[in-house]
Amino acid sequence: MKEKSRKRTNAAVLILACALIAGGCCAQAAAGDNTKGVAQQASVKNQELKIKRLEEKTTEQANQSEKKKSASASSKFTEAQTKESNWNLLLVNPWNKLPEDFSVDLAKLPGGHAIDRRAYADLQAMMDAARAEGLSPIICSSYRTEEKQRTLYQNLVDKYLARGYSKKQAKQEAGRWVAAPGTSEHQSGLALDIVSSKYQSLDEKQARTPEQKWLMVHCHEYGFILRYPKEKKDITGINYEPWHYRYVGKKAAKEILRQGVCLEEYLRDRSL
Ligand SMILES: [Zn+2]
Repeated sequence: MKEKSRKRTNAAVLILACALIAGGCCAQAAAGDNTKGVAQQASVKNQELKIKRLEEKTTEQANQSEKKKSASASSKFTEAQTKESNWNLLLVNPWNKLPEDFSVDLAKLPGGHAIDRRAYADLQAMMDAARAEGLSPIICSSYRTEEKQRTLYQNLVDKYLARGYSKKQAKQEAGRWVAAPGTSEHQSGLALDIVSSKYQSLDEKQARTPEQKWLMVHCHEYGFILRYPKEKKDITGINYEPWHYRYVGKKAAKEILRQGVCLEEYLRDRSL
């Protein structure tokens, strides 16, 4: 491609050069005058020089443009590849906002819920397996838009403000329960809040329900992890949530469970 393009450029310059030189030669022959002939010769020489410079410049430009094209293509390819292969390991937390241009292809779930289409089959299999055990898990929260997240967050901030917290304290406290807009995993389409149909409160007692006990043991088989374990809240930045499950894929889920780490630690160790 690069070689072809250079040949094409050279050929174009050659044709242009021939046309100009031929034009000069014809003019000289027709003149039949020595003085004019010398002048014409000098002019032809000048034209040749100009053409040579033009040729050099054009070749250089063609080379640079090829280089640019190939560099940008390769960086785009790497970016796309990284995005594609690591979509399930996307880190979203108080320190890592979702990318501005983030978008997700959602699969709809009953009850107006939705999840990243790529995690749908595993979620379905997990829910089916839990139900086959006589359990009744319910999805109470899933994908959230930025607007929805902002409303949830602001409502909680307002509650703390009403209790007399300062603006800074209210935001800090609210952020430990409901992530600030742009920093919630629910906006990624990879997170779900699942509760027991018999106990639907989002508090620590949720962990004692048979549904959570089963999910905590088996979720990794379907590519999910309990995202905010009690002993990791200083690393995740979020309080213990024995109902918030995050899809990371089967391989990562098994490894995270085996190592007893949270997603932040798993990703940090991977990059070492
Ligand atoms: Zn959640």
